[in-house]
Amino acid sequence: MENFVRDIIDKDLETDKYGKKVHTRFPPEPNGYLHIGHAKSLCLNFGIAKDYKGLCNLRFDDTNPITEEAAYAESIKADVRWLGFDWGKRLFYASDYFDKLYEYALVLIKKDKAYVCELGQDEVGKYRGTVTTPGKNSPYRERSVKENLDLFRRMKAGEFPEGSRTLRAKIDMASPHMIMRDPPLYRIRKAAHHRTGDKWRIYPMYDFAHCLCDFIEKITHSICTLEFENNRPLYDWILNELGVYHPQQIEFARLNLSYTVLSKRKLLQLVEGKHVSGWDDPRMPTLSGLRRRGYTPESIRNFCDRIGVAKSNSIIDIAVLENSIREELNKKAPRAMAVLRPLKVVITNYPEDKEEELEAVNNPEDPQMGTRRVPFSRILYIEQEDFREDPPGKFFRLAPGREVRLRYAYFIKCADVVKDKKTGRITELHCTYDPETKGGNAPDGRKVKATLHWVSARHALEAEVRLYDHLFIKRDPEEGEGGDFKSNLTPASLETLKSCRVEPGLKGARPGSRYQFERNGYFCVDTVDSSAEKPVFNRIVGLRDTWAKIEQRKR
Ligand code: ATP
Ligand code: MG
Repeated sequence: MENFVRDIIDKDLETDKYGKKVHTRFPPEPNGYLHIGHAKSLCLNFGIAKDYKGLCNLRFDDTNPITEEAAYAESIKADVRWLGFDWGKRLFYASDYFDKLYEYALVLIKKDKAYVCELGQDEVGKYRGTVTTPGKNSPYRERSVKENLDLFRRMKAGEFPEGSRTLRAKIDMASPHMIMRDPPLYRIRKAAHHRTGDKWRIYPMYDFAHCLCDFIEKITHSICTLEFENNRPLYDWILNELGVYHPQQIEFARLNLSYTVLSKRKLLQLVEGKHVSGWDDPRMPTLSGLRRRGYTPESIRNFCDRIGVAKSNSIIDIAVLENSIREELNKKAPRAMAVLRPLKVVITNYPEDKEEELEAVNNPEDPQMGTRRVPFSRILYIEQEDFREDPPGKFFRLAPGREVRLRYAYFIKCADVVKDKKTGRITELHCTYDPETKGGNAPDGRKVKATLHWVSARHALEAEVRLYDHLFIKRDPEEGEGGDFKSNLTPASLETLKSCRVEPGLKGARPGSRYQFERNGYFCVDTVDSSAEKPVFNRIVGLRDTWAKIEQRKR
């Protein structure tokens, strides 16, 4: 796959910028679960390492002890592995380098390029100026090196309260780049860190740590999202002042997906506000949510390939992601019949004690997948929506007096509609079948306009089915009043159907296995709530294919 990032790498290889080496990294902050946006970055970084016979590190950017948890780091490792990437022995943590980073800070102080500032957060803001007006120097800017060294050591020793001091780079308060106006390098945080415990009372800022971690790991190409383009002058300044080599930073556009949000901070709000059942709720755009929903690693990697890598931001239609799994499962998923909203059908001319097994194709796209046998008997279920007592013009499915085909079975004709006397609700249909049409074709060549799926009532297995809608009603959930994305949540994005009936062959279906339920879409056995007695199926996506197409192929 070609993209502008690879073009830059090709050029660097030609000019021998880093010798023949290509070494990338994927640097998540362990403050939440990975989402599909991270998959784009993973595919890019690990994909490049693989194609150039280079290496890719997994590095946790764990510089903020407050929002980070070991559990997040574990989930991230599991997700990276699941997506099919291998960091070998190169699992690193920014916290591994805290001692080194501290030493680098001391070097800057000794060069009079960093100072301990006592301005509070508000004051720092005031001194900073604006995009159009220069900032003012901090009154602490001209401290001696000796004093700065002493104060910084005491910050480290925990002598000062949080927020009372920072170590700042001494750059230029009038720089047109706001980021260069003496940015903070270290802050006091009296919090235990999930790896270093209580050892540190000061923690490096992301910008200081990140470029140095890349340098320490000898990363050649530091690939990041566009918002970091602004920070590049600061990275260059830090690396220059320390006299060390510069990895090539390359910025690309982050993935935005319609009808969802891709930000760990926002996804955390959905989890904490109980708008979803957890990070792995099948509606979440997290890798764990997509996995539970039924997405395969291949489908996500193919999606990332398809959307490519560009330099300008855009919103990718979520349908592109859905198509990717649909295409894969169309080829691979075994077919099955499942009735989501059952309507009882009695075949009045079929003997009460008779039953037979009919042959059904497992996957019309792949003859190798063979056939299976599905039981047929006098009492069946079909979908409620496949019958209309008073059918409108374009409704070709079952109606009083009308004949349709039951998939792999027989033609049936509706003779009678039985209703609940009190409510008027249809409780069952009485139909007759034509024994001559076994397998679904009439020897006299007569046609029907619809083919319905069905299950045998006596044999079917009861199941729960969960149908999902987009998590948000708006294409861009940020849009609208006050920009609170949560006001744009879809009111009922989960619909649970508790008394579905599926063909008996699905008994014991392995959690995580995927099927196409004919006419209803692609489904995955839920890995959390499913049991052998009562399977639970998540709908991954609906079918784009209409039944009409399958009909055409049959002829
Ligand atoms: P979030 O806002 O979701 O927390 P982040 O950028 O803060 O995202 P990190 O853990 O820092 O999350 O991200 C690790 C890597 O994944 C970074 O290199 C980042 O650029 C990349 N990344 C994060 N979100 C996206 C996205 N939507 N598209 C592409 N890459 C992304
Ligand atoms: Mg981040």
